Amino acid sequence: MNSRITFTEPQTEVEDASRTIGRIDGTEDGPTIIIFAGIHGNEPAGIDALNNLFANLEDQKEHFKGKLVGICANQQALFEGVRFVDEDMNRIWFPSIIDKIKRTASEDLKSSERQEIKELLGILKREIPDESESEYPVIFVDVHSFSSQGEMFAITARKQNHIDLLSSMHVPMIFGIEEALRGTTLRYFQDVGYITFALEGGNHQNKLTVTNNTAALMLLVASAGNLPPRYIPDYKDYKRHLVQENKQLPSSVKFIYQHIIEDGDDFKMRPGYTNFQPVKKGEWLANDVNGQIRAQCDGFILMPLYQKQGDDGFFIVREQV
Ligand SMILES: [Zn+2]
Repeated sequence: MNSRITFTEPQTEVEDASRTIGRIDGTEDGPTIIIFAGIHGNEPAGIDALNNLFANLEDQKEHFKGKLVGICANQQALFEGVRFVDEDMNRIWFPSIIDKIKRTASEDLKSSERQEIKELLGILKREIPDESESEYPVIFVDVHSFSSQGEMFAITARKQNHIDLLSSMHVPMIFGIEEALRGTTLRYFQDVGYITFALEGGNHQNKLTVTNNTAALMLLVASAGNLPPRYIPDYKDYKRHLVQENKQLPSSVKFIYQHIIEDGDDFKMRPGYTNFQPVKKGEWLANDVNGQIRAQCDGFILMPLYQKQGDDGFFIVREQV
């Protein structure tokens, strides 16, 4: 690759991740960008990407407008190297549950994830300006990785301000999955009125994943208007990297089908499926206690599950025309 940007191996575990990974308070008003990483504890590549982002922007703070805050979401799960400790932290962001977490004392909350969400809510309350006080948007990003091999993408809403923000980041956009996944940060903060997307940088262990997520976050800062490209170190290299990585992929796809795993299914994906691999209707994709699971339609497969924890076996998406 003709570039100065470097690849780093994702960490296998995070021993002492502080809650706030980094923050930049601009010299002028501007958008507020809040980035969560490690909401799933077996996805430390997101933490590495945030560390890279703040290290890269360290000398540019004087030019920065608005605010950038990077937050480690699920510390205990990261420490244990598991997707979650008691319950999936990215499936419980319902207004009623969040309200209950706010009203309950931390020691009375019954799951590790709910106790951590209570801390996160405290940070968000401090960091995010009241809507009435700011004319600038709040942008919320949730950084992930996945268990299969394959290409990166972003999950977002089919709304013009979301598409405008993501178009110049050169990451394929997936529409509709945020409607199918219940209790995600994405949906919760979208309903609050923020511009939101989830960044899925690649396989949990692939060193390219950290680079992909770092590159996308570097371009985000420019795309959102917090920092002009000329002040972003290696901006052209990061852009070239993403254009190159994603040139074979459709720039936007829509969600068609979701295979939901239920308790006791004993779901097993057949080996070798990667993100954006084309599948045909009727193709044998996986097995569970009830037998063979076949594709219900043509399309591209997305996030085939090759790990124990998780409730979504795979998604099928189609190019958006
Ligand atoms: Zn995840």
